[in-house]
Amino acid sequence: MKFETLAIHAGQEPDPQTGAIAVPIYQTATYAQRAIGDNKGYEYSRTHNPTRKALEECLAALENGKYGMGFASGMAATSTTMALFSNGDHIICGDDVYGGTFRVFEKIFRPWGLDFTFVDTTILGEIEKAIKPTTRMIWLETPSNPLLKVTDLRATAALAKKHGVLLAVDNTFASPFFQRPLELGADIVVHSTTKFLGGHSDVVGGAIVTSDPKIFERLSFSQNAIGAVPGPFDCWIVLRGLKTLALRMRAHEANALAIAQHLAKHRRVKKILYPGLPSDQYHAVAKSQMSGFGALISFYLDGGEAQARKVCAATRVFALAESLGGVESLIEHPGLMTHASIPKEIREARGLGDSLIRLSIGIEHVDDLLADIDGALNSY
Ligand SMILES: *Cc1c(COP(=O)(O)O)cnc(C)c1O
Repeated sequence: MKFETLAIHAGQEPDPQTGAIAVPIYQTATYAQRAIGDNKGYEYSRTHNPTRKALEECLAALENGKYGMGFASGMAATSTTMALFSNGDHIICGDDVYGGTFRVFEKIFRPWGLDFTFVDTTILGEIEKAIKPTTRMIWLETPSNPLLKVTDLRATAALAKKHGVLLAVDNTFASPFFQRPLELGADIVVHSTTKFLGGHSDVVGGAIVTSDPKIFERLSFSQNAIGAVPGPFDCWIVLRGLKTLALRMRAHEANALAIAQHLAKHRRVKKILYPGLPSDQYHAVAKSQMSGFGALISFYLDGGEAQARKVCAATRVFALAESLGGVESLIEHPGLMTHASIPKEIREARGLGDSLIRLSIGIEHVDDLLADIDGALNSY
């Protein structure tokens, strides 16, 4: 079945008891057993819950994977993935990842004895140079956050296989509608379902998808043992969001392309970062592995922090907020907001300077978005 059909039907048979067309919210902690050990496949909701199961099956289908696992947040999914490793294991991580990912790796898992090297994963040689005998995994985001750098997933997966290390991809920015890393050779896909998958900025959630039964066995053990699982209502909200993912992603992208083209020739914009523009450094590789370019745009303003603060405060339709991937357009300053947890010297060395602004393009009318961003850029 095609993506749009799976998004509505995968894991979501009408309720066997009532015929309810929408998956019921099984708001229960436990399940009555007929006799000791004689249950209907459900014992306790940290381990299994029918609403969560529907979401997990739907997410697996959309990523073209075998197994899905739901989590309480994207960070819960990321942290649970790290339970695959132990003291002394080495992980190569993209140098332009979500600020919270960098923070949990550096502040929680490094003190526990995991070793991390941060590299520019868009350069294959940089990854290869970082591989050590103790390397167990390559972790990356593509397109990356907030610089929209694109890593060649097929080439990176081949390199990972050659060295016997896992490849995990945080696919939050693209969503499975535009990019399916498992089809390109990745072992693990991670999501913040808070973003495009939920799609309405009304829930926090996360997910892991894999097709490897051994990885699934270990991660579903950790999902239950650690217990950072989503509640039934949150699963239901994400499931509802998924039904319109295809429609929304097409609308997000059409708006994003129009705005990127406009910003590319705006006098106040020094440089625009959007892989959907043919002039973008990463356009060719993005085109080879994505069916669309998504809705995140970053740009360097012709100005400094004071001007960037003015622009961020001046929009009326774009809300000034962290997060991304909802139907509403958002504007933010990565250096002062989403990526503020990265030390300033590291941030600046990586291109997250004072004039960098990130947009998450929503699905409002494009004319209103263009007028709004234009007005804000011309406000100083
Ligand atoms: C938001 C985000 C996360 C973290 O997800 P939460 O749901 O906020 O915990 C991880 N990766 C990326 C790319 C994100 O945008």
